[in-house]
Amino acid sequence: MGVESTAASESEKEVNTATNGKIQRRSQNDHALAKTKETVNAIDTLPRSWTIEKSEELYRIDGWGHPYFSINAAGHVTVSPKGDRGGSLDLFELVNALKLRNLGLPLLIRFSDILEDRIERLNACFAKAIARYNYPGEYRGVFPVKCNQQRHLIEDLVKFGKPHQFGLEAGSKPELMIALALLNTPGALLICNGYKDREYIETAMLASKLGQTPIIVLEQIEELELAISLSQQLGIKPVLGVRAKLSTQGVGRWGTSTGDRAKFGLTIPEIITVVDRLRQANLLDSLQLLHFHIGSQISAISVIKEAIREASRIYVELALLGANMKYLDVGGGLGVDYDGSQTNFYASKNYNMQNYANDIVAELRDTCTERNIPVPTLISESGRAIASHQSVLIFDVLSTSEIPFESPEAPVESDTQVIHYLWETYQSINRENFQELYHDATQFKEEAISRFNLGILSITERAKAERLYWACCHKILNLIPQIDYVPDDLEDLEKIMASIYYINLSVFQSAPDCWAIDQLFPIMPIHRLSEEPTQRGILADLTCDSDGKIDRFIDLRDVKSVLELHKLKPGEPYYLGMFLNGAYQEIMGNLHNLFGDTNAVHIQLTPKGYQIEHVVKGDTMQEVVSYVQYDAEDMVENIRQRCEQALEEKKISLAESQRLLQTYEQSLSRYTYLNNPSSPS
Ligand SMILES: *Cc1c(COP(=O)(O)O)cnc(C)c1O
Repeated sequence: MGVESTAASESEKEVNTATNGKIQRRSQNDHALAKTKETVNAIDTLPRSWTIEKSEELYRIDGWGHPYFSINAAGHVTVSPKGDRGGSLDLFELVNALKLRNLGLPLLIRFSDILEDRIERLNACFAKAIARYNYPGEYRGVFPVKCNQQRHLIEDLVKFGKPHQFGLEAGSKPELMIALALLNTPGALLICNGYKDREYIETAMLASKLGQTPIIVLEQIEELELAISLSQQLGIKPVLGVRAKLSTQGVGRWGTSTGDRAKFGLTIPEIITVVDRLRQANLLDSLQLLHFHIGSQISAISVIKEAIREASRIYVELALLGANMKYLDVGGGLGVDYDGSQTNFYASKNYNMQNYANDIVAELRDTCTERNIPVPTLISESGRAIASHQSVLIFDVLSTSEIPFESPEAPVESDTQVIHYLWETYQSINRENFQELYHDATQFKEEAISRFNLGILSITERAKAERLYWACCHKILNLIPQIDYVPDDLEDLEKIMASIYYINLSVFQSAPDCWAIDQLFPIMPIHRLSEEPTQRGILADLTCDSDGKIDRFIDLRDVKSVLELHKLKPGEPYYLGMFLNGAYQEIMGNLHNLFGDTNAVHIQLTPKGYQIEHVVKGDTMQEVVSYVQYDAEDMVENIRQRCEQALEEKKISLAESQRLLQTYEQSLSRYTYLNNPSSPS
């Protein structure tokens, strides 16, 4: 029953997407204008006090979080891991309860129920499309292991996927090993992709004797002869597939996954070679699957439609050539709406899961019926769409740094001219001239610095000049809410004046795609949401790397350069959540500055509350140093010997040396992240 309602809500959205013309992304200028008007309207019409609804709108939680995340009356983020099927948890209280169990931040919380709901949803959408279009075939999805290989997650996936004969996709030899060991669902498919050697193909072929259904997808023409000779040697008739290089162009970051120069797949002439050669080897009935993958996070449904059209034509032609076609594998690409805008922006998608399933099913039915070819079993390899929502990363803010506002002092007669100019600028700023005067102030400040560098301005004069410059900036920034058009250069000002929030996290370890490919993940405080977030900030991580920061945030029509945050309260923790980061981030995270894996817990909803299924402790310092070939015992021994030497030379007291040794040794067994004193643990 829950599944029914799930599918229904997906299809409701479908109607919205189709009829809502304003969802199309606008040009930069429209965007700036629209944004200002929204702000002005908001200020005019809303009551003075901040509300939870304002937080909902500001952080767009309904857009990207529905039906799993929302805000409760206490101003905390809540999680409904079963989606529309009831039951919810207060995320802030959950984090506090986990901290009492000695699980420090940063902490990755996985909700197994969300994973289950995603699998249910995907299957329900295909079931609905199959019923709607009277498709005389079925859907048999697989999860691409590369998206998140963690054992607990893959075990859950296999378990939750059982009712739908949901299988796995391996993209490498180690992933094949995992898939073979874990997949035990009768009838579920095991798609074997990626580069293959003899050992890979042999293992996959033999596994069919265990009752598994491995399908070996030929991605390189070299794999053909290996497969033929192994089939002859082993006396096994494998199920083979071909990955086609479609001419349909993907979009966005992975747009080059298609076309003749794509890294993977066979061109049409190569596919014909495969057919001829298999026919010759008496193995043409082994060729049963056509696969394509046009890249991840496909944001435009038109691209998906075009790819399906091309692929279904290839499928039908292969059947007409005599191949024993049974499966069409549409690969990954099903997008996630990270910014909740429902647009074809790269961090969003202009379709939903139901639209996706409908287009695939309808196109295949039409093309196959036209040529009187039986329709295929449909396979999708949706990774991102299944794994993203299930995990939430919680981290705390260690401190902030702001540009202080001080009322500037008037210059004295003897002050240098540029200081007088800055003072005059400051005094004259008003609603009409602020844009011009912003440029003037910037120019005067730069002049002050170059005069300082030439030795004609003292350091105290330079300080005076800089203070006046910041006062100008503050004054202008305060005017912005009153004007109805914010020029682009003043968006810079907001960025320049942003506070820095220092977070207890490594972007490189926990959100590598933020750094590597400018991916956007929704980030917001998980509490204090009934209070107005008065600050504008960017996030700076723990690493000693200027790239270790987050200064791009989701927005309705584009990207924001600052995030609305609350002022820290002394002695109180401030927790932020990064959402939708369950796909790809964990395995691609790296050990930059030796910040290790974070703590992770698996939470499952129970009738009475929740249950902690698994705790996976994050790396200790001892573990991370061992990844780079250090031996913790040797290190301790080294410090011990140096203590002895220093003792002998009377440079250290016995008590001091003992204390150093003890701290050193204890640290090695501790978490690599900071123990934030303002977050009582
Ligand atoms: C990465 C990959 C996927 C998963 O793509 P998503 O966009 O995460 O669904 C599926 N198939 C292949 C061949 C891939 O390389």
